[in-house]
Amino acid sequence: MKESLGQDRRLTNQRKIILKQLQSVTSHPTADELYDMVRQHMPRISLGTVYRNLEVLSSLGLVRKLENAAGQKRFDGDMSRHHHIRCTHCGKVGDIFGAPDISDIEEKLDTDFVISGHNLEFEGVCPQCQ
Ligand SMILES: [Zn+2]
Ligand SMILES: [Zn+2]
Repeated sequence: MKESLGQDRRLTNQRKIILKQLQSVTSHPTADELYDMVRQHMPRISLGTVYRNLEVLSSLGLVRKLENAAGQKRFDGDMSRHHHIRCTHCGKVGDIFGAPDISDIEEKLDTDFVISGHNLEFEGVCPQCQ
């Protein structure tokens, strides 16, 4: 089990291509959308392989996994600090850069939980849907 995990963490060629494809867009694609993009470079790759590799890349801290309130899992190749806004009409997810830093909010919260992070998502209507 331990060996297979070690093996699994390598940045294989397959993973590099998936990572590169994800980093080339700002659309925060779902695994299915990314599968369509990756397939043009690796026609024989399966959807399951793309899913599995995305999970590994996410656990390696190379991609960001977005699990939004709409229940749709999306992926982001941009690891810089930014927030997200989701269109309540079409589900499109956009980036918000330069928002006020709220990283100290966790220390100010009144809870007996041990906080491991937070997930702030804004909602709105995108320009195409307005
Ligand atoms: Zn929209
Ligand atoms: Zn983003």
